[in-house]
Amino acid sequence: MRIRKIDLFELHLPYAGGTYELSHGRVYTGFDSVMVRLTTDDGTEGWGESTPFGPNYIAAHARGAGAGIKEITPHLIGRDPRDVDRINDTMDEALLGHNHAKSAIDVACWDLFGKSVGLPIYKLLGGSTGKPLPTISSIYAGTPEDMRARVAEHRNRGYMGHSVKIGALEREGGPKLDADRIAASMADRQPGEYFIVDANGGLIPETVLRMLRALPDRLDFVLEAPCASWRETLSLRQRCDVPIILDELAQEDGDIAKLVALDVADGIGLKISKAGGLTHARRHRDICLAAGLTISVQDTVGSTLSAASIFHMGVTVPERLLRCVLDPRDMVTVQTGSFYAPIQEGGVLPPDAPGLGVTVNQDLLGEPVASWEE
Ligand SMILES: [Mg+2]
Repeated sequence: MRIRKIDLFELHLPYAGGTYELSHGRVYTGFDSVMVRLTTDDGTEGWGESTPFGPNYIAAHARGAGAGIKEITPHLIGRDPRDVDRINDTMDEALLGHNHAKSAIDVACWDLFGKSVGLPIYKLLGGSTGKPLPTISSIYAGTPEDMRARVAEHRNRGYMGHSVKIGALEREGGPKLDADRIAASMADRQPGEYFIVDANGGLIPETVLRMLRALPDRLDFVLEAPCASWRETLSLRQRCDVPIILDELAQEDGDIAKLVALDVADGIGLKISKAGGLTHARRHRDICLAAGLTISVQDTVGSTLSAASIFHMGVTVPERLLRCVLDPRDMVTVQTGSFYAPIQEGGVLPPDAPGLGVTVNQDLLGEPVASWEE
């Protein structure tokens, strides 16, 4: 099997909830996305998606993804897409960094790998645990009562986990507002529910410690991405007893190794495009399994292709270390395809069809913005 042609598509995915607010005044109403289609010498198509969460979330943006893909693609024509680690070596030799650009190509290679052997990707990643994957909501920062209402709305839709966004500046209400947001979001907590409080790197140790003192006692949650730097996070780690998980700081293989070496956190948000695709995500998963770290399998955001890749990876994580998965399809109003994966027992499983198992809606994508062919 050889890659004969690569096509690049661009698409805008409107946010389903209107306006999404994060710490530091970051506001999003939609997300620019890129998709790639790899076509092999036998006519098989492999698809991948990369949808950054806006240009000020991590060092990634959709136009950068497209530009990065243009740097990489000439080196991949003629290669066997199933040599996923070697494909990643080639991408790294052609372009340093830019994981979000490499991710779409990497996932498309896994799609082709699965289709070439007639197996779903989860089989190639180690096999399914068979456990339906618990999905987590994404509750953007707002007033405490508004956040409480949105948690209730997601609870009624079957979500067992809630990712509650915080990170108020002093002039916006500071640590007291964030404490009120957490308390309100958790006020109606039901048995079996869990809460992740996510600051997206928007706080410093001082504001986290003040926020924790302003909270009611014994609230059961984990704190995600409290601070923007390793130093701040390590300082906080040594001064509070709330479990911490990393997200934005955990991107490269070396970041996961550093997390373990410094014992700076208890788990990670494993976002497929942040890691650079399924090949690196697989490595991050295995380091976490060896170290006893929990894993939330997610992506920055995305549509059908991202959802499928999340579910294929998520179902290979043993239940005791899988915190949750994100279903990004709920966050956008446009779907780039479809797959059969019914929600059951409060969770979701990946499709059983070969590769990603996604039927892409090519009419929606229109014509490619760039193509490379041998
Ligand atoms: Mg996060």
